[in-house]
Amino acid sequence: MAGPRKLIAGNWKMNMLRGEGLDLARAVADGGVNGDVDLLVCPPSILVGAVAEALTGTGVAVGAQDCHEAQSGAFTGDISAAMVRDAGASHVILGHSERRHGLGETSERVRAKVEAAHAAGLVAIMCIGETEAERDGGKTLDVLSQQIDGSLPMGERGFAISGDDTVIAYEPVWAIGTGRTPTLDEVLAAHAHIRAHLQESLGNNANSVRILYGGSMKPENAGDLLAIDNVDGGLIGGASLKAEDFLAIAAAA
Ligand code: PEP
Repeated sequence: MAGPRKLIAGNWKMNMLRGEGLDLARAVADGGVNGDVDLLVCPPSILVGAVAEALTGTGVAVGAQDCHEAQSGAFTGDISAAMVRDAGASHVILGHSERRHGLGETSERVRAKVEAAHAAGLVAIMCIGETEAERDGGKTLDVLSQQIDGSLPMGERGFAISGDDTVIAYEPVWAIGTGRTPTLDEVLAAHAHIRAHLQESLGNNANSVRILYGGSMKPENAGDLLAIDNVDGGLIGGASLKAEDFLAIAAAA
């Protein structure tokens, strides 16, 4: 059975001044959006509005890299999900490992942010992934289940999400920005586990939830990674900063 359309998402992280970011966004759009793949770029929040405006009508979507869980208030330096939406974005990355591990963001907090994103009409890209020590200890699949259980909104019957409002990104922490990737069999096993875990509560509706792989994806390995069962796209950091590389990954999808 064919899975959902592939999504190729670029996480620019804290890179790109305004001019460079607009050039990159336009180059991605000019690269030609192929009808079989959805493209998304996630610039730093201060550029979301400008990039969204530049990409209007191109078919390339725009996302933010985080948002606060509260609707408004005394949270100096933060932005709300409604602000992200108001700036023209459709998606927001939440629970990235650089926030979970770098800034101590808990799954409980990620869940609150996913709820805020949904309430604002944003698609949440909820990131999960094991550390190298957890991998070495054989705990990868347990960690993935725990992060999913802790970070997704829950209703009476289980996860209160759908493929329309939520994307899961599997990003092994040790593979992010390191040039290292899991074996294709490890990616296959992790994605199958995530799908099965979602199915336990969502049944067949879990099949429309896109599960992205992220962690040192580049043009050279994208074809192999994106061909794996249940890999419904990629979340790309470093290689999303060059239009040529990002588009080559999209072409591989
Ligand atoms: C990321 O930060 O989401 C990521 C996958 O980074 P990289 O592609 O650089 O490993």
